[in-house]
Amino acid sequence: MAGARDDDPHVVVELLGRRTHILDLSREIGPDIPIYPGHAKVAFWWHLTHDEVKHYRIHPESRFGGYAVKGMALCDHVSTHIDAVYHFNRNRPDLTVERIGLETLITPGAWIDLSSVPPRTHITRPHVQRALSAAGVALRPGMTLLCYTGASKNWEDPVRFNSEYPGFDEEASRWLLDQGLVNVGTDAPSTDNPADTRYPNHLVHGERCVPHTEILANIDRIPRHAGFSVMILPLRFQGLTGSPVRALALWTDE
Ligand SMILES: [Zn+2]
Repeated sequence: MAGARDDDPHVVVELLGRRTHILDLSREIGPDIPIYPGHAKVAFWWHLTHDEVKHYRIHPESRFGGYAVKGMALCDHVSTHIDAVYHFNRNRPDLTVERIGLETLITPGAWIDLSSVPPRTHITRPHVQRALSAAGVALRPGMTLLCYTGASKNWEDPVRFNSEYPGFDEEASRWLLDQGLVNVGTDAPSTDNPADTRYPNHLVHGERCVPHTEILANIDRIPRHAGFSVMILPLRFQGLTGSPVRALALWTDE
């Protein structure tokens, strides 16, 4: 079928007249995916099947086979998703997910490898700075930094995925936002270490009013550490604290 996707998340398309590589950084959403402990699971159901529509709503002589409609229930932090500021700053009910500006969501990108940091420990400022220099990345204001922790390798094992990953300590969190980042992404279920219920990264992002993005896929498949663009596209759910996103990395050959 034209345009159907196989398992390869990488495509080359023409974008604004240029041959552009696009890598999908999003997970799928469905009833069997790992769900953060305590959050609602995903449910899908039929409202109308093709057969029902064909029987009740379509003229008997029509060759049209009918249409189908499904319903869904899900948490606003399911699968690959962005955390709006209101998620972690109770005093900013104005900063809900439908209000995040496109200039925060479509930005220059960079990625670093933090997979040597053990699960359930803190990612520190020295870890971040070493990873940035190993990647040859210079952060600048307005960027989105994607952080590969290796947690994505556990996606098929929900208990492990939801418990075995590192997270930023307070100093690293502050230092990253001091560089002017507008979004920080991770392949883990959270930017915070699951063994630290003080939530230092969520705390700092709440103070600075900067969103972050969790459960990204394929970060380590972006073939360059900088010089690409990131698009993180949430739906505009009114008043919600986050939204699943379509997240993309884009680059050209030049
Ligand atoms: Zn979240």
